[in-house]
Amino acid sequence: LKPERIDLQEALSDLTHLLNRLVGERVTLRLTHAAELGPIRADKRQLEQVLMNLVVNARDAMPEGGVIGIETEALTLPEELRRDRAVVPPGDYAVIRVRDGGTGIPPDRLQKIFEPFFTTKRPGEGTGLGLSTVYGIVKQSGGFIFVDSEPGEGSVFHLYFPIHGDPLPAEACPVAV
Ligand code: C2E
Repeated sequence: LKPERIDLQEALSDLTHLLNRLVGERVTLRLTHAAELGPIRADKRQLEQVLMNLVVNARDAMPEGGVIGIETEALTLPEELRRDRAVVPPGDYAVIRVRDGGTGIPPDRLQKIFEPFFTTKRPGEGTGLGLSTVYGIVKQSGGFIFVDSEPGEGSVFHLYFPIHGDPLPAEACPVAV
């Protein structure tokens, strides 16, 4: 594990090519970036694994094709956020949302999808380790993950990563001398 300061937008741009290949021809990736996002602290390879996992799941949820949206947002929580059984402390977060218009996840399964070995895929299609791995990596980065889903409408995964250090606006980037 090699946690480092990561610029999420840069990491996502570096990964776009690979993600586009992963989704295939029927699915379109749409990236929407926040104007300014502070650095997070995570292992870059693991972060890539998280995004790849979520994008592959989104693709598989849309066998007929469609659009996967990846959005970033700078979010300040003035007070703690309680969701599921988690308590997200107040502070600044970089949020990534991965959105699909796929089959959706039935409500009775939503609470279980981050558990190891839970899978909706048929034997041979998946190991069931995907989302629990994603969950573990997000936790190791001090982050949080939530899911909204409506059967027949699609799903949105929300990832909250705490900001580490001051944001660096593009026009004010210090230049190393
Ligand atoms: P839980 O999954 O039964 O976890 C109980 C406690 O075990 C957690 O308390 C945390 O201290 C520890 N823990 C569990 N999984 C991990 C992990 O992967 N890494 C690390 N470092 N520690 C882990 P905590 O954080 O107060 O969470 C309480 C409950 O809130 C959790 O119960 C879980 O149901 C929920 N929760 C916590 N974080 C998230 C999240 O990011 N997303 C969602 N959907 N639920 C979360």
